[in-house]
Amino acid sequence: MGKLKVLMASSEVVPFAKTGGLADVAGSLPLALEEAGIDVRVIMPKYASVKSKEDEAIIGKGIKVYFVKNDDYFNRKELYGDKFGDYPDNIERFAFFSREVLERCKREDFKPDIIHCNDWQTALIPVYLNTLYKFDPFFANTKTLFTIHNMAYQGVFPKEEFPKLGLDWALFSIRYFEFYDKVNLMKAGLVYSDAISTVEGVLKTREDVLSGILNGIDARVWNPETDKKIYKKYSAVDPDDKGINKEKLQIETGLKVDREIPMIGLISRLADQKGLDLLAKIISELLNTKVQFILLGTGDNKYHVLFERMAKMYPKNASINLKFDAVLAQRIYAASDLFLIPSRYEPCGLGQMISFRYGAIPVVRQTGGLKDSVAEFDPKTGEGNGFTFSDYKAEALHSAIKRGLNLYRNRAVWEELVRKVMTLDYSWKASAKEYIKLYDRISGVS
Ligand code: ADP
Repeated sequence: MGKLKVLMASSEVVPFAKTGGLADVAGSLPLALEEAGIDVRVIMPKYASVKSKEDEAIIGKGIKVYFVKNDDYFNRKELYGDKFGDYPDNIERFAFFSREVLERCKREDFKPDIIHCNDWQTALIPVYLNTLYKFDPFFANTKTLFTIHNMAYQGVFPKEEFPKLGLDWALFSIRYFEFYDKVNLMKAGLVYSDAISTVEGVLKTREDVLSGILNGIDARVWNPETDKKIYKKYSAVDPDDKGINKEKLQIETGLKVDREIPMIGLISRLADQKGLDLLAKIISELLNTKVQFILLGTGDNKYHVLFERMAKMYPKNASINLKFDAVLAQRIYAASDLFLIPSRYEPCGLGQMISFRYGAIPVVRQTGGLKDSVAEFDPKTGEGNGFTFSDYKAEALHSAIKRGLNLYRNRAVWEELVRKVMTLDYSWKASAKEYIKLYDRISGVS
């Protein structure tokens, strides 16, 4: 029997385009699948950020990434919207993308056993496969897996837009697309998929009908021992050079240069999901103590306004970077002592896994994937790997940060903790195996 053929369809893929964790997943899971013997290819839109002149590229050891080109739809600076909000033609853009995914398979003569769809932007693929392409022999053996990375974004549009999908109006019904008199792409995608998986812990409890598979990170990319973007490489054996990364970042960002001052990092989309309102309530008090805060993020305007104000008030101990910057992100992970993720909800979260690798101790709210991966550190037993809180309250966040800052003063214990988290394994190894089991099950191999 030949290799299982998988096409990973994603609206963002590292290193070509990224707004959040989906891009990390779509750029790293295929590498793990390939190593496990899957014939995997990837497909994504050709945005302005995709520099290749060709309509495909290679990642990892020969994995093909197909780009779907349509300059009117995708040759734009941003992926989903600009400062005026979501692009008004998003439904057309991703309907086009989804159909092109199927057409491209035919042009490349690549008959996938599985099309692995991710989030609402690809939700129309299982729909088209089961409607417009239902009797197409090319796809006779193609099954779909739909992975929900973030349930909060479902691709909801006014019903007037439905005709743009090129589907029968009959599908605008409660069983398929209709959702409170609007069009919901994810809903229809879930209905038509052969299997569904999610990265979300809560849903894991319904394993009889649904597979919950935690994300991993590419441990080769996120590795302070080999990372060329950080100022000085370091390892768990001797994490002392982490201090040099802190000093250099302090110089680069105009903060006071002193490696003893605890540095608190935060890298995030600035969206309500991320718990920034909690931080807003305590940030002044926090910045009046001996700490440095470095933020990297972009998103809702209200948070830009808030953090710009903070930057003006505390120029010496706050560095506010309102942009997307992959290099700066790596430098922040490398320089930070504590890393904040106070999310309201977090399906999986990658920030905590990356910060572990770089020896930055996460301070997280106990929700979703954060709850599954971060446990409160107990100085008595040495168990745990971070600082956590459960109530969605500013005081609870503040007290978790304070516990972190207190421990930071206890150098010996702190360094032990840093060494420990740096060796935790959140690579794709285990999760890729889970996906392969699921692919095999759907395609009828076992
Ligand atoms: P989400 O997918 O909800 O955005 P995750 O924690 O799963 O959250 O993934 C976030 C990813 O995006 C991480 O790799 C993080 O480092 C990265 N990231 C978020 N904002 C920025 C930014 N402004 N610049 C660089 N990287 C960012």
